[in-house]
Amino acid sequence: MDNYKTGGGVDPILAAKFYPSGTKREATSICLCGAVEIRIVTESPLFSGFCHCKACRRAHSAPLYQMLFVETSNFCPKTGRLRKGEYELTITKGYEKLRPAKMGIGNPNFQSLDVNPHIGGLGRIFCKDCSVIMMTAVFARPGSVFNNGDQDKEMVCVFPSTFTENMSEFIQAWQPNLHVNCGSAILPLSAFNDGLAKWTEWADGVPWADD
Ligand SMILES: [Zn+2]
Ligand SMILES: [Zn+2]
Repeated sequence: MDNYKTGGGVDPILAAKFYPSGTKREATSICLCGAVEIRIVTESPLFSGFCHCKACRRAHSAPLYQMLFVETSNFCPKTGRLRKGEYELTITKGYEKLRPAKMGIGNPNFQSLDVNPHIGGLGRIFCKDCSVIMMTAVFARPGSVFNNGDQDKEMVCVFPSTFTENMSEFIQAWQPNLHVNCGSAILPLSAFNDGLAKWTEWADGVPWADD
């Protein structure tokens, strides 16, 4: 995770003030219609923060969005099949409603994750009844920014905006620790004097998404 360039401004005391923490380690995510429910249980998310890239902004129809990534899930990011066992992320209701979102010219750099040098997999997954994007189900490719190993590494993202709890109820490890793709931000970065790291670009020079 030190393989990036940052705009600086990191201040843990300021960040703790803006993003206070609590004691919960378990969250429930629900879509607008309530058909889909996801449970997240973890001591240590992979990372938590905000993305400003154009693809995420367009996908979520929002000026930025908040994400929480975990490593293990009962939803296979490659096949979309449900797996048995204990995972950090569990789809507890409405699996049959979930669909992968199609990509295309709205995301000009990587119209398909098959050609994305960082990540592969099914990508954004939404509820077919109410259209809320509930997950991003991907794997990091070996040697990419999020994966130093030689095997694919699964990463599944959920969105705190869909949680039934407030983020301040969760432990410190769940609190946001970075902004990514800040070079694409449409909101003024000076408005985010929140003490978190602001990633502006990726060390390998390959854009993460359309910016
Ligand atoms: Zn729904
Ligand atoms: Zn993004």
